[in-house]
Amino acid sequence: MRELPYTPPSIIDVHRERVEPLFRAWTAKKSVPQTLLFAGPHGIGKQAFTRFLAQALQCEESPFKPQDDGGFGSLFGGGMDSEPAQTTPTRLEPCGKCTRCRRFETRQPFDWYEIESDTPGETLKVEPFRRIKEKLGQRAYESPFLIFSIANAERMTIQAANSILKVIEEPPEGWLFIFTTSDVSRIPATVLSRCQLIRLGALPEATLKQGLREEGVNAPDTTPWHLSEGSYDRLKTILSPEWRALRTACTEILQDPESALPAVFDKGTGEPEFLENFLEVSETLLSDLFKLARTGESEQPELTHSDLAERLKKILDKRRSSKKGPLTGNEIFSKIEATQRLRGSLTTAANTKLVLQAAIQNLR
Ligand SMILES: [Zn+2]
Repeated sequence: MRELPYTPPSIIDVHRERVEPLFRAWTAKKSVPQTLLFAGPHGIGKQAFTRFLAQALQCEESPFKPQDDGGFGSLFGGGMDSEPAQTTPTRLEPCGKCTRCRRFETRQPFDWYEIESDTPGETLKVEPFRRIKEKLGQRAYESPFLIFSIANAERMTIQAANSILKVIEEPPEGWLFIFTTSDVSRIPATVLSRCQLIRLGALPEATLKQGLREEGVNAPDTTPWHLSEGSYDRLKTILSPEWRALRTACTEILQDPESALPAVFDKGTGEPEFLENFLEVSETLLSDLFKLARTGESEQPELTHSDLAERLKKILDKRRSSKKGPLTGNEIFSKIEATQRLRGSLTTAANTKLVLQAAIQNLR
């Protein structure tokens, strides 16, 4: 089981609240849907939550019991005690103490297979799905379910998706598939129609802040929270020294277009993520400039980069006293539009070096 980035407990709690009512319904019906699909923005802890749910289902305290455990095997999902231990609504919570929980916590769970591409960002090819099919006829070794987790399912190739259609249409008894995706529109319709779709939302700002406290990360008051779009991973990027260096570099280009390019651009030219961050930072800095150019001296517009307000005002002042004359709202607006067009072109696998050159030129 690979190491996931740290996911604070408060983030798991947000998703637990979403899924708990379903879990109670499954408990009451004595069956769990055998193909679940968690969809939600990138970086909200979907995979960590999948593991949490899996642990809760496999835990010795789970209302679902292994098929050979004296319980009856249900038609769907795992078997249950003929008399559930609890009559009150069940909380979705692994005990954390039993052998099966400990196996999860030491990343050696039984009856758990996690499928993902070897390289981040690459497609999920057919091979691991063939290995799932080779397990047909097997059942869980010691837990209620044999769980297959497929992360970033939108990366499945068509061949990979086709190869498991039959299995997910009628999974063997006790088998459970949990797919996750950050882009449900890219899940083949044939797979989607066989899954129970559960949407997990973007994280509220309060949860992001709580998460940072739990992880012991300090965030300045001026953190542009809304740029995270409710994604914890994205927030961590925004708080990283690399992101802040990039932001400083963009401001320097705006401030002094004739200056040599900041060193930060040397390494970033070939990396799509760098380029994406660069374009986002450019766009939001330009938007701040636009707001400042349009408001009077006494007004304080709400800025994304509020801590850079003074530097941005200086940029406007400098232009006002230059030969070119003041930086007008229209001029800034057309730069924003150009940046947006460049961001749009990123999705179509553009030449990243050319896009970066155009983006830098646009800032000057
Ligand atoms: Zn347990």
